[in-house]
Amino acid sequence: MDKIRINDRISYIEASDDPLSADIGIIEDGGSTWLYDVGNGEKSICGLDGSYHVVLSHFHPDHTGNISRVRAESVYVSRETYAHVQCGTVVSDDLYIGSLHIFPLPSSHTKGSLGLEVDGEYAFIGDALYSKVEEGCYIYNAQLLKDEIEVLSALRAQYLLVSHFKGLVREKDAVINELKTIYGMREKNTPEIRVRIRPY
Ligand SMILES: [Zn+2]
Repeated sequence: MDKIRINDRISYIEASDDPLSADIGIIEDGGSTWLYDVGNGEKSICGLDGSYHVVLSHFHPDHTGNISRVRAESVYVSRETYAHVQCGTVVSDDLYIGSLHIFPLPSSHTKGSLGLEVDGEYAFIGDALYSKVEEGCYIYNAQLLKDEIEVLSALRAQYLLVSHFKGLVREKDAVINELKTIYGMREKNTPEIRVRIRPY
């Protein structure tokens, strides 16, 4: 599949359906190539015949399904992702390698999300902005949302690369304003924030 360029060093393979496959980030860093997620299904990786360092955003199969199909020199995962893929180095704190920064990212989507910041300019964040969906509501955990806002705010990167989002790039300030609005909807004595999904 075609690689879409973001800048000189960052490109990606777009997410697709059937099978559901998340976007694959491709980052050139000092002679080696990194992948952020590996997608699912052979179609999405047919152009990836090199050898790579891999960061997995979280354990969902649309992000991790191809892990045994790519040649990985190293794999970085959270503890929760390790439990599913059974390989890789567990990252539980900020990790700096070259111009890359791997970081744990609190999220209502799943436990064990990892982000990848490149050059302090762009940060891949996988599905971490998404909530759980139940009974016509988006459901966020208030504490996780607060922690997520803090982690994203502290990044130097001004642009976020969001899986399943057309074009991938979102301005961090706009995202943080959105998350703060949702956080403002919390109510006392309940850990959950429920946001009704508006019918179109
Ligand atoms: Zn997911």
